[in-house]
This record gives sequence, C-alpha cells and structure tokens, in this order.
Amino acid sequence: MSTSSPVKAEEMDVLLKRAVEFHGHLGPFLVLGLRMGLIGLRELNAKRREKKLRVTAKLKYSIPFSCVVDGLQIATKCTMGNKKLRIRNYSGIEAKFEIEGGKQVTVAVNSALFDTLKRELPSGNVPSEEIRELARIVASTPEEELFTISRG
Ligand SMILES: [Zn+2]
Repeated sequence: MSTSSPVKAEEMDVLLKRAVEFHGHLGPFLVLGLRMGLIGLRELNAKRREKKLRVTAKLKYSIPFSCVVDGLQIATKCTMGNKKLRIRNYSGIEAKFEIEGGKQVTVAVNSALFDTLKRELPSGNVPSEEIRELARIVASTPEEELFTISRG
C-alpha cells in the first residue's frame, strides 16, 4: 500500500525553507513535525489555514523532540499563540489532528525510527552537518516507514 504524498516536492521545499527560517536550524525532528502536519491535513481533507483545525502534540517537551512542534505549526498554522495547538507530555511522538466537532486522526512516529534518532542524536554536541544529514534522511524516507496513521 502506498500513500500519496501530501504535497508536491517543490511545495515541500518551500515549506521546509519556511520551517528552517522560523525555527533557526534544520534538524530531523523539525522535518518530522512538518511531515506529520501535512499528513494530518491530508487525512482530514483540510486546507492549510482550516479554521476549525486543532492539533495536540504529544511528546517530551525538550530539545530535540520539541523541534517537532515548530514543524507542526508551520504545516498547519495551529500555533501556541493562536491556541489551536497544545502540548501533552508523552514518551513517544504523536500528533492528533481534529476538526472541531468533526473528524480526527493521529499520526505517530514509529518507535524504531524514534529509537534510531535518539541513538544518533545524543544530547551534547552533535556536528551540525550530521544533524542536517539526518534531517535529509527523514525528509526523503517513505511515509509508511516513518509513521503510523490511525483514524477515529
Ligand atoms: Zn530544532
């Protein structure tokens, strides 16, 4: 089974640039958040700037995991500031997307990938070129290898 890419490659490049500009650097968790946000929109058939969209990010709210939040914000326009995004503490990484009073979907980062990233990104000084390389890997890995999508 293959899932259609939520956006065209060129659009992904534009979004990625915007995310890096906003967040300050390119890293794998930022890319994960961006991709999760785009999948959430696609699964709910929602437009970016959908007014009734709400996002709950479930993760450990510390760097590098918290970088996911900025990717989600860029993809969905649900932000801390407009109160359409909230954060819940969780040992893995998931994001729940819901249209107020309507459909919802959860996108979870597969635990094997999460474990790999945690291993590759120990706290401390990781060369930034290595981090950018991990980000590129996350950007180009097929969706079904990265995420589990559950509707309900
Ligand atoms: Zn980051």
